[in-house]
Amino acid sequence: MIDTHSHLFEDEFKDDLLECIERCKANNVNQILLVGFSFETNDKAQALAKEYDIFYPTAGLHPSEAASTYLDDFNKLVDFINNNKIYAIGECGLDYHWTKENIEYQKALFKLQCELAIKLDLPIIVHSRDAQQDTFDIIKGYNGKLKGVMHCYSGSLELAKEYVKLGFYVSLGGPVTFKNANEPKRVAKEIDINRLLIETDSPFLAPHPYRGKRNESSYVKLVLEEIANIRGISVEELDKITTENAKRLFKI
Ligand SMILES: [Zn+2]
Repeated sequence: MIDTHSHLFEDEFKDDLLECIERCKANNVNQILLVGFSFETNDKAQALAKEYDIFYPTAGLHPSEAASTYLDDFNKLVDFINNNKIYAIGECGLDYHWTKENIEYQKALFKLQCELAIKLDLPIIVHSRDAQQDTFDIIKGYNGKLKGVMHCYSGSLELAKEYVKLGFYVSLGGPVTFKNANEPKRVAKEIDINRLLIETDSPFLAPHPYRGKRNESSYVKLVLEEIANIRGISVEELDKITTENAKRLFKI
């Protein structure tokens, strides 16, 4: 298995990261994308990836980082990417949940990262919260030239299919295991299996039965098991397909 989205550089893991990695290996989780979202975390992802070969680092600027300084911030990100090996740009995107005051900066910063991803032929990892339509409009604007993944996808099945048409992958995380998660379960059942990825978003969004607790990458197995159960296929088969999908998208 590959956990395509984690933040194991966070403080939540400072005391037992090694044990977490051991639990991953024991559960056949052998590759983990370490997703940066700020200058500090982009650095941390690089540092950890140099230390442990299970990790594949990314770099990006989250919409919560979007401010009037976005152009300078973007140029600093370009410098960083020119000097460090990364497997994707992101996470980046739009988040109207916490604030709508910086919407214009969010959009501008997101578009710059999309254009950089096209230029560097890297996939993009997209965060979208309470901003479904605007996120889709921006991605659609690149006419299929932009490749990437909708991380911890929580939108409708219909929209997910539109993303697939544009060449995107859809990633499901812990919420698909929640009892009341009707739409994520529909997506899990119906989406093109060759465009499906699994993730944890550790330390956030732990799957059932750990809901509300710290999430960790070995729990991606619970996400895989839930989706296999929903689709009525074996865990082994779904593991094989989602692993191939992740390898194809991230070139790992
Ligand atoms: Zn994340």
